[in-house]
Amino acid sequence: MNTVSESPLDPPSSVPTRPSINPADLHFPSGAISLDSSLYIERLPLENHAYQGIEKPGGLVRIQAPQGMGKSSLLLRLTAHARAQGYQTVTINFQTADQDIFTSIGKFLRWFCASVTYHLRKPSCLDDYWDDDIGAKLSCTMYFEDYLLAELDTPLVIALQHVEEIFEHVAIAVDFLPLLRFWHEQAKQGDVFRHLRLMVSHSTEVYVPLNINHSPFNVGLPIRLPPFNLAQVKALAYAYGLDWESNREAQQLMDLVGGRPALVNMALYDISYGQKTLDQFLQEAPTQASIYRHHLQKLLTTLNHQPELAAALKDVVSAKSGFELEPVIAYKLNSLGLVELRGNECLISCELYRQFFVHKTFSQLDAWRERLAQLEEENTQLKQLVNLDALTQVANRRSFDEFIQAKWQQLGEMQAPLAVILADVDCFKLYNDTYGHQAGDQCLQQVAQAMQKCAQRASDLVARYGGEEFVVVLPLTTAESAAQMAETMLNCIKEKKISHDRSTVATKIVTASMGVASVIPTLDQDPTSLIKAADQALYQAKALGRDRVQIAIAAD
Ligand code: GH3
Ligand code: MG
Ligand code: MG
Repeated sequence: MNTVSESPLDPPSSVPTRPSINPADLHFPSGAISLDSSLYIERLPLENHAYQGIEKPGGLVRIQAPQGMGKSSLLLRLTAHARAQGYQTVTINFQTADQDIFTSIGKFLRWFCASVTYHLRKPSCLDDYWDDDIGAKLSCTMYFEDYLLAELDTPLVIALQHVEEIFEHVAIAVDFLPLLRFWHEQAKQGDVFRHLRLMVSHSTEVYVPLNINHSPFNVGLPIRLPPFNLAQVKALAYAYGLDWESNREAQQLMDLVGGRPALVNMALYDISYGQKTLDQFLQEAPTQASIYRHHLQKLLTTLNHQPELAAALKDVVSAKSGFELEPVIAYKLNSLGLVELRGNECLISCELYRQFFVHKTFSQLDAWRERLAQLEEENTQLKQLVNLDALTQVANRRSFDEFIQAKWQQLGEMQAPLAVILADVDCFKLYNDTYGHQAGDQCLQQVAQAMQKCAQRASDLVARYGGEEFVVVLPLTTAESAAQMAETMLNCIKEKKISHDRSTVATKIVTASMGVASVIPTLDQDPTSLIKAADQALYQAKALGRDRVQIAIAAD
């Protein structure tokens, strides 16, 4: 290597002559900046930290930034750095995986092992290690430990790109991500896993409910790529042969696109190769004539396919200041580079997007909003008819049966997801035995109250399913959002800190186990399969030690 020394030219200090352009850069800017390009602007000391991160035994480097911030370009340099140290490197891009590998953890991990083996040009001997009796995670670990890593005398660096794809498949995420953490921990014990170095890159915040002790996202070296500053924009302009001596031009460009490297890069390419003046460029930027037209069109298409994101963006664009959004929606908009997150509030990320989206109409949006309003209206009516459970004051079983039947029909017609959470208080028989039936009743009231408090949306229903079991119905909700809601409810119950000395849960307070399932209803079936799936997930949550949320793999 060294890729570091191939970095951009410094901006001129005295009278500049127009710099010549590197022939490697004579093409439209898209994707990662190649290693031989002069257009890579370092954001030191960030690169050096990352290099050090993968040199550590068992090193784990996590790169997080929205689209277009330079994650792939940095990964390219990190893998080049690793190769220069004599390490082996493999890059796995989850965006290139077939969708059907995400249907079960077994399938997924076999694909993962096979991909790494293929990139290492080794023969696959997966079947020698795969044993259904010990399960996929252990089989996969043994395959790495006894085969892939055991035969290596140099470190192996695996770069995982677009890990946010996995967040979309919660059932995979809750198994695979803790496995990465486990391997990272193994390295501390002087294991062969010392040879394994992981680089994880993702564009959204991690919104999968993971126990903090099992998550790979609170260990290792976190790297958040910041936007370019003025000096970095000027450095890139210089690499494009532009003499932006004063700060004025760079500042004007930043006023339009912020410091997003991809947008700055396109602008400078257009000005330099298109021989445009900066004013010309700025005027046409949000229009159909601009170099950004394909980029903007692609964002528009994405939003047209996800009306809930379009609706949220409309709110952010029209707000005078920051606008608060549901966290998962905010993360997704941020991942597309459209909004910046400031605490709980979102702001449009740059003037270009504001100008482009402020008067845009999204094709699905009105229909979606109408559906939502209709649903909420009908729900309010339904809820007025709801019969309450005498003890806990949440809806009773009969109301639940009617409610879920109605929602099943409605969402089946809309072809939109319906989720349920089934919750069961842990070791409740022992609670009654220890504190008496009356205290047991009070405890159930507290649990019901905690759950009801969390279900804020007008469209949701919390009901007593029977005994010490509760059920929550969440229309228009995916499994991942429902799991988040379940985590919130579980935390709310635990915040009550009701002592339970004989609970098998180590904290000795009242906890619950929850099973979550979501499905797009089909009208030739009824909700039984959905409830059964949630029930099986609940059973698993109990079997895994209680006090947790478990998601059903598929509700069918
Ligand atoms: P697990 O963690 O596996 O769920 O164990 P558990 O003890 O909670 O489960 P089990 O089904 O064995 O016991 C449920 C208990 O809940 C037994 C029953 O007496 C009690 N229970 C059910 N309804 C009520 C109620 O309305 N009030 C009170 N106080 N107890 C109730
Ligand atoms: Mg029970
Ligand atoms: Mg119970």
